[in-house]
Amino acid sequence: MKVNDAELVISAVSKKQYPADYLPEIALAGRSNVGKSSFINKMIQRKSLARTSSKPGKTQTLNFYKINEKFYFVDVPGYGYAKVSKKERKKWGDMMEEYFAERENLRATALIIDIRHKPTEDDIMMYDYLKYFELPVLIIATKLDKIPKGKREKHVKIVRETLDIEDEDVIIPFSSETGEGKDKAWKAMLAHLN
Ligand code: GDP
Repeated sequence: MKVNDAELVISAVSKKQYPADYLPEIALAGRSNVGKSSFINKMIQRKSLARTSSKPGKTQTLNFYKINEKFYFVDVPGYGYAKVSKKERKKWGDMMEEYFAERENLRATALIIDIRHKPTEDDIMMYDYLKYFELPVLIIATKLDKIPKGKREKHVKIVRETLDIEDEDVIIPFSSETGEGKDKAWKAMLAHLN
């Protein structure tokens, strides 16, 4: 997949700001600091279009990146900060709900997790949340370069079992450092976009 054109169209806080062209969308979700921005940047061949290391306290927005004038990547705010207040959590939840429950042109979600570690309670909750909306989920198991080749299968198995993933969903080991897994990730996404 060659990306010729990628632009941040809007950082939305509510649905009236969502793009109105209704191109198909792939959402990207993941724990804060898991490597979600690096994943987006690697996929679209940009150094830093998606912000890396978004910090808690920053305005939480849904960032709509228009790709090749054909579809959107929708970067949803990271989850899993222990320190956020109840009020912040509620705001995050409302924003997620408004998007995931109602967005008709949303085709699938890429859930980014860290291949080095067993998925956390937050990861499991997010996976189950997406499945509640009956969305296809591509599990992007990133930071692949940080584990030895001989241990990959074991890590993938742990991810599969911990998230208890459904048959229609796939796990794609990925590295934003080396680009490994990029073609597979595009193939899986395009299958939902076409
Ligand atoms: P985000 O908060 O989920 O958007 O996470 P970032 O993309 O900002 O990444 C968090 C940190 O992990 C940064 O220091 C990245 O350089 C690092 N990182 C992200 N992806 C990879 C990867 O595939 N391999 C390695 N080695 N480091 C990564």
